[in-house]
Amino acid sequence: MDMFMDGGWVAAQSGQVMPVTDPTSGAVIDTVPMGQAADAGRAIASAARAFENWKRVPMAERVRLVKACAQAMRDQAPRIGAALNRELGRPLPGCIAEIASSANLLDIYAEEGLRLYATQALGSAPGERIVVTRDPVGVVVAITPFNYPITLLMFKLGAALIAGCPVVTKPSEDTPLSTLLLAELFHATGLPAGLFNVVTGARELGEALVAHPVPRKIAFTGSVPAGKAIAAAAAGTMKRVTLELGGHSAAIVCADADLDKAAEAITRHGFANSGQFCYRVNRLYVERPVYEALLDRLATRARKLTLAPAGGEGDLGPLVNARIFATSEQQIADARARGARILAGGDRATGPGYDGGCYMPPTLIADATPEMLVMREETFGPVIGIAPVDSPAEGLRLANDSRFGLAGFVFTRDLALGMALCEGFEAGSVWLNDIQRASHHVPFGGMKESGLGREKGRYGVVSYLEYKTLYLSWEPPL
Ligand code: NAD
Repeated sequence: MDMFMDGGWVAAQSGQVMPVTDPTSGAVIDTVPMGQAADAGRAIASAARAFENWKRVPMAERVRLVKACAQAMRDQAPRIGAALNRELGRPLPGCIAEIASSANLLDIYAEEGLRLYATQALGSAPGERIVVTRDPVGVVVAITPFNYPITLLMFKLGAALIAGCPVVTKPSEDTPLSTLLLAELFHATGLPAGLFNVVTGARELGEALVAHPVPRKIAFTGSVPAGKAIAAAAAGTMKRVTLELGGHSAAIVCADADLDKAAEAITRHGFANSGQFCYRVNRLYVERPVYEALLDRLATRARKLTLAPAGGEGDLGPLVNARIFATSEQQIADARARGARILAGGDRATGPGYDGGCYMPPTLIADATPEMLVMREETFGPVIGIAPVDSPAEGLRLANDSRFGLAGFVFTRDLALGMALCEGFEAGSVWLNDIQRASHHVPFGGMKESGLGREKGRYGVVSYLEYKTLYLSWEPPL
């Protein structure tokens, strides 16, 4: 496929392309342009032209178009989900679900647009008014990772469009195809040319987009090191940034918890998308009296999850590439060397259907200690570290002893204790007694090194608007 900009397909000016592979087999399924600074400039110019019209389009019309795009996504979820399945390796039902769920977020952003108001300061002298309004920030650069490429793009694109901003997006090198198909679909649905441009390429292309003088905001989801580099580069031209970065989220399981429910939620959430999930449960602190009982329940559930071989079905796909896979292998080896117990998984899956991809079965590491990598660093793979604690307070202290602050999870039947733990968590979102997917109409984002700013709902839209204060004077005729 080519890049999509200004309403059409475009090759890289250099003519260079890069392969897109199927992670289940390693087979090349397509190529996309290897875009560079000149291509970034061309896409940004297209967005800047589109901005001149789009910022004047009445809100009702923006809402109509964004809702039409949401419906088109639902209608085309099987087709775009199939492209996502091939480039990401996640089993097809989960890919189709991602497209449909992302469409719902567009609807929510559209509805938030109808609730945006300006304000007026009271108490002005006759013939004077102070009005506080908000303008769209301008051209937005959205840089996304591979793991939920469409959801994480919709976090940004839906809010930007409603606020009046065009977008140039750079999807991950691993998963560009679904984003390209979506841009074409939105254009065919009526979104004007230049509002949703997609450029493809490696990190250097992202750097060129961030350094370009025209965009006014960078919305980024990805790793902490990349987020820090982007924040530093964006400061050069004082661009606004929203950063959704890595996580290393902890769960605390208290002695009175419903252990079946806790084990079910932790297994479902910790291994979703083969652990390639920013706010997944990465480490567990379990009160000693229920430690072994919870381990049994977790191990039973983890061993039941199946790996989907190339061309076959199952619960979990491979990890997207060898770089992401290496972190899981390294953390498991480190835990083994330091004397941890591997309760489930732990070794790469091999054999027919698995040899072409980086498959790791769901892995539980018991008796993990604070020095182990799995208890300190993001895994982004299907590996959970588990440690016993002597009290909920010790669990909370260890949970917060981290440079990350994306999510937290608490399991206890004691509501007062649960509230105290939830309120004590240094994390952008905290769940008590179950783990539902993050809701679309409430803020999502991280504390500490997990990020800056919030996305979703009203909170997401306002981050694409700038305050502007108008001081108005006239001669009162009466
Ligand atoms: P990554 O940081 O390697 O890459 C993400 C994107 O940034 C890619 O498109 C990449 O080309 C681009 N990029 C990398 N360095 C750049 C730079 N210096 N300037 C501009 N662009 C640059 O991340 P990944 O491996 O694709 O995804 C995994 C990471 O994403 C994990 O750390 C995960 O926690 C994080 N993530 C966070 C959230 C969240 O909401 N907090 C959600 C999903 C994933």
